[in-house]
Amino acid sequence: MGANVLSSTLELMETNAERLQWENIGKQVQDAKDVKLNETSVVKNLESGSNYKFLGIKESVMQDEKQALKEAAKVYFRRLSVIWTSPLSDFNRVLATNQFALPALTYPMWTQHWPLAELRDIDRQTRKIICENGGRHPLSSIAVLYLPREKGGRGLRAIEQEYKLIKIKAAVKLYESLDPKMKSVQQFEECAIPNRRTRDSYQRYALKKHIKKVVNEKLVKKVEDQQWQGGLLKARWQDNQLSLENCLAWLNKWHCAPTHCIAGIMELYEQLTPTKVYMAYKTGITDKNDVKCRMCGEGPESMAHVLAGCPSLAQSKYLERHNFAFKVFFFEMLKDLKLADFTPPWFSDVKPKPLYKSPDAEAYWDLPVDADHTYVQSNRVDARFIDHKNKKVFMVDMSCPWINNGDKKDKEKTKKYGSLRLELTKQHPGFKIS
Ligand SMILES: [Zn+2]
Repeated sequence: MGANVLSSTLELMETNAERLQWENIGKQVQDAKDVKLNETSVVKNLESGSNYKFLGIKESVMQDEKQALKEAAKVYFRRLSVIWTSPLSDFNRVLATNQFALPALTYPMWTQHWPLAELRDIDRQTRKIICENGGRHPLSSIAVLYLPREKGGRGLRAIEQEYKLIKIKAAVKLYESLDPKMKSVQQFEECAIPNRRTRDSYQRYALKKHIKKVVNEKLVKKVEDQQWQGGLLKARWQDNQLSLENCLAWLNKWHCAPTHCIAGIMELYEQLTPTKVYMAYKTGITDKNDVKCRMCGEGPESMAHVLAGCPSLAQSKYLERHNFAFKVFFFEMLKDLKLADFTPPWFSDVKPKPLYKSPDAEAYWDLPVDADHTYVQSNRVDARFIDHKNKKVFMVDMSCPWINNGDKKDKEKTKKYGSLRLELTKQHPGFKIS
């Protein structure tokens, strides 16, 4: 079966090659006749207006590049629509767009000359299709869409960019070709162009890596220049206390997240949630004098205020968020101290008990320390762990600070719990307190 397919493919290629020859001659001799090879096989003359497929691309008497682009784009858009209306997760939608839809266009790119304006238009329509399917906010940054996910972007690939890269790669490939005919072209070019780059310098770079790096640097620069959409992302890149990998784990490790989740979090990152500040300063549809928070009436209703600074939410939503997050850490610690044997997911209703105890260890959830001395004012940390075996006491207090605010919060806590540390040192002599 395999051999059959192979031989018929070879046959097809031979016929195509012959046709191609005839095509070339056909330019000069318009009315070429059919060619009879033997009794049974005849190579038909390719009439103008009709076409045939060569390596999957339709060709006629001339290479019809416009037609090729039209056909490739048709396949691309068909695949794109299927992907973005499918029940795939966001990670897989992006993957499928890059690896299933995009190749419909990138495959012919190596041999075709397509106008950049039309490729840009395909990029525009792509973004429109993604927008219409709830994949992104209409005002979302284009640079963020094409930035790799490790950097906090969406990880899509732009068609215009791919085209340019393929042209560079093709040029370098031809330049490095060992074919003697190509050699003479090179020699000719090298004499013709002064100050050309040497072949070595091309080889020294791992070209692919280098190109990728340059493209990403350009995108990062673009995001940094966008103060509104890029502001929070830039702050994260510049915060060297932050582990970017863990900070962006929701993009890179949460592979089953649906698109509306990822697009929603992106909206928060790009400050596109309709807060009063957004409506007044970004879209300009409301009065700039009226941006006071609708919940507390104090600060301006910005992303930072809603997420980390609104006093109306402090005792309810912020506390709830804090406990949900801290619970995960607490159960992991319990597991380490052999006080519990499983970690419930953050969203479960399981509430930690105030006290866990075994002969080797103790753990307290949000329980004040019974202080013998009145100077201990802040005697309530989020959790305490006492490891009798290793003679260690851990005081743990967590906060959810706004970006760039982590350092300040750290110092605040150290100061706040200084006296408590002293008290614990007295209660557990010989233990290491941290
Ligand atoms: Zn408020």
